[in-house]
Amino acid sequence: MRGVGRVVGDAGGDLECGKCGRACRARELDRLLWCEACIAGAKATAKRVGWLCGAVIAAGLAAWIHFVQKPSAALMGGWVGVVLAALWLCARAATELCYGVLRILRRPGSS
Ligand SMILES: [Zn+2]
Repeated sequence: MRGVGRVVGDAGGDLECGKCGRACRARELDRLLWCEACIAGAKATAKRVGWLCGAVIAAGLAAWIHFVQKPSAALMGGWVGVVLAALWLCARAATELCYGVLRILRRPGSS
């Protein structure tokens, strides 16, 4: 989409999005010059990747608990809680990490 429908210069306040190149009002861009659509897209991507990473890690943890710890039925609830907590924490951390990486990779002038 770069270069399509460019209207830079209108009222002197327009800038190009640093990611998609769409002309936007300066106030619509954040400090890395991304438009709202690109930010939303990156957040959605980061969320998908983050939950995927969280699910993989939680599955690995569940397998480790199941095969190595061999929990008794009485402690099962606690282990399930540990796995769910790990899933949530890892998903959150991986989402933040992925979003940060996406932003750094697309920083203006970095290419
Ligand atoms: Zn954009």
